Amino acid sequence: MTNIDRAARWAVRQTALPTVVKPCLNCSGTRHHPSGKFRVNANGKLLDVWLLMSCATCDRTWKTPVHERVHVQSLEPALLVAYEANDPAAVRALTMSPSLAAKNGYRLDWTGTWDLVVSTARPSRTVLITFELPAPIRVERLLTLGLGISRGEVRRMVADGRLHLPMAPDAKAHRDFEFTIDQPATSRDEVRQPAPPPTPRLRASG
Ligand SMILES: [Zn+2]
Repeated sequence: MTNIDRAARWAVRQTALPTVVKPCLNCSGTRHHPSGKFRVNANGKLLDVWLLMSCATCDRTWKTPVHERVHVQSLEPALLVAYEANDPAAVRALTMSPSLAAKNGYRLDWTGTWDLVVSTARPSRTVLITFELPAPIRVERLLTLGLGISRGEVRRMVADGRLHLPMAPDAKAHRDFEFTIDQPATSRDEVRQPAPPPTPRLRASG
């Protein structure tokens, strides 16, 4: 059996879209959710495209600029169709986009947006973790969830060289990575030598 066959796959699965954190202009709320719609405005050959978001407190709509006065021919036709059809995949991609967040000065809150699907109960030596969404998650949080051990145990295993991570345990990952795990020390120490042939029992003399 090759190593690839034995590689386990864990998946960070999307359960919700991130919350957009930005002060509302109408109330003291800061949390916004995409309404699922775009607004496209044509002015001659120039287009404005907004992603519409709603304040979670007062429901006021906030138009998030996606494209501003962009020439219609510079926009991919499929993209324009997606905006005009309020395509859920386009809403999802833009709501999760760190560059759109940076451009418009808001923060994304990824709390409650994911869960971890662990495919095998016992980890094999190599585990590939795939990300369905770019949620930044501490590596040790994924490992405590996936391996069912404490954060202290994760750090001990890294220190002992039993767990090999591509980054520090408290670093945040947001895309696919692999780690390797050695068998626990107890089972590694067990099977070593074939059992010795039975020897006659020595009797204590006297
Ligand atoms: Zn509000």
